[in-house]
Amino acid sequence: MQQIARSVALAFDNLSRPHRVMLGSLTVLTLAVAVWRPYVYHPEASPVIKTIELEKNEIRSLLPEASEPLDQSPEAEDDTIPQDELDDKTAGEAGVHEYVVSTGDTLSSILNQYGIDMGDISQLAAVDKDLRNLKIGQQLSWTLNADGELQRLTWEMSRRETRTYDRSGTAFKLSSEMQQGEWVNNVLKGTVGSSFVSSAKDAGLTSAEISGVIKAMQWQMDFRKVKKGDQFAVLMSREMLEGKREQSRLVGVRLRSGGKDYYAIRAEDGKFYDRSGSGLAKGFMRFPTAKQFRISSNFNPRRLNPVTGRVAPHKGVDFAMPQGTPVLAVGDGEVVMAKRSGAAGYFVAIRHGRSYTTRYMHLKKLLVKPGQKVKRGDRVALSGNTGRSTGPHLHYEVWVNQQAVNPLTAKLPRTEGLTGSDRNEYLAQVREVTPQLSFN
Ligand SMILES: [Zn+2]
Repeated sequence: MQQIARSVALAFDNLSRPHRVMLGSLTVLTLAVAVWRPYVYHPEASPVIKTIELEKNEIRSLLPEASEPLDQSPEAEDDTIPQDELDDKTAGEAGVHEYVVSTGDTLSSILNQYGIDMGDISQLAAVDKDLRNLKIGQQLSWTLNADGELQRLTWEMSRRETRTYDRSGTAFKLSSEMQQGEWVNNVLKGTVGSSFVSSAKDAGLTSAEISGVIKAMQWQMDFRKVKKGDQFAVLMSREMLEGKREQSRLVGVRLRSGGKDYYAIRAEDGKFYDRSGSGLAKGFMRFPTAKQFRISSNFNPRRLNPVTGRVAPHKGVDFAMPQGTPVLAVGDGEVVMAKRSGAAGYFVAIRHGRSYTTRYMHLKKLLVKPGQKVKRGDRVALSGNTGRSTGPHLHYEVWVNQQAVNPLTAKLPRTEGLTGSDRNEYLAQVREVTPQLSFN
């Protein structure tokens, strides 16, 4: 008897707490019944009772959670309700089965274990292929019809979207419901410390929101040049659903750098303009000279170099022109290089916004310095024949996102601005947004 009780007690370690309590109670009860009978028929068998008392203590010592005597514990009382009766209650009340997707689950593995017909499961997967990609934590619920067939399946994909599949004959009909959040405006402001990005994070902007700000301001401001002490204010509209942020939209941004204010405010078309409704991306000139010169060599990713005799990409366009012809910046930007360098001779590189760079080579004389801001049409150099060059010409390159493109055909920024009613609407928006972008 003692042996049996001990092995039962040891097996408790592998059981959950309610099961342990229940099994403990049952064991004690069984033993009590076993003891009670011999006691009735053999009143002299007191040693048996002693043994049982001991085992009862042993069991209790293996159940440290059971602070109260087992037979009086309210938990033990709850556990006396048979489990299948509980199941019937929840299933019977609503008639809805619920399931939370966990590791390794698939639609068929889940529904199959509840006895749903494989044919119905394939029908569901045919109606919506997305059902093949259930994600952990998503909730499925379903109801059966009187014949025990699947009547309706509901899939809570996210806080936003719920899809429902209703039986229609042998197939299922899909419907989707999107939850709309509430758009809330937030003004986030701060003063630049070690970097704009870290200060913007401190002010409560997410990485994606910060990228949006940098992009909106790219034609006015190189954020790598933002200095300690510069101030910013950002008006962000965020869609909130069940207390969580679903998405956000930049409404307007103001940056004060070096005592000067820069603004970018969103219009109805989703683009950003300055406070007067002018486009922030100033258009590029197609040619870097006042008049158009003859093209002596085209852009060619696989050109035979006339000087070296090797096949090498010609990353720009050559314009034949007399030495000393003024070379113009094709767009607003900042000079990032102006120096003499081997094969390129004297050359200038200008960065425009975030993604564009233009380069001008074989120059005779530089008219700008690195770091200098230039406007579209500014003279940056005089053309020449320096470096690896076979005659007076200008070699001109356009780079988009670190990639050389054909300057004659590339899609270049165009000057855009709002006109008419679009502009009036925008100016009304500016009047509403600007006061919110204060630094106080
Ligand atoms: Zn060239």
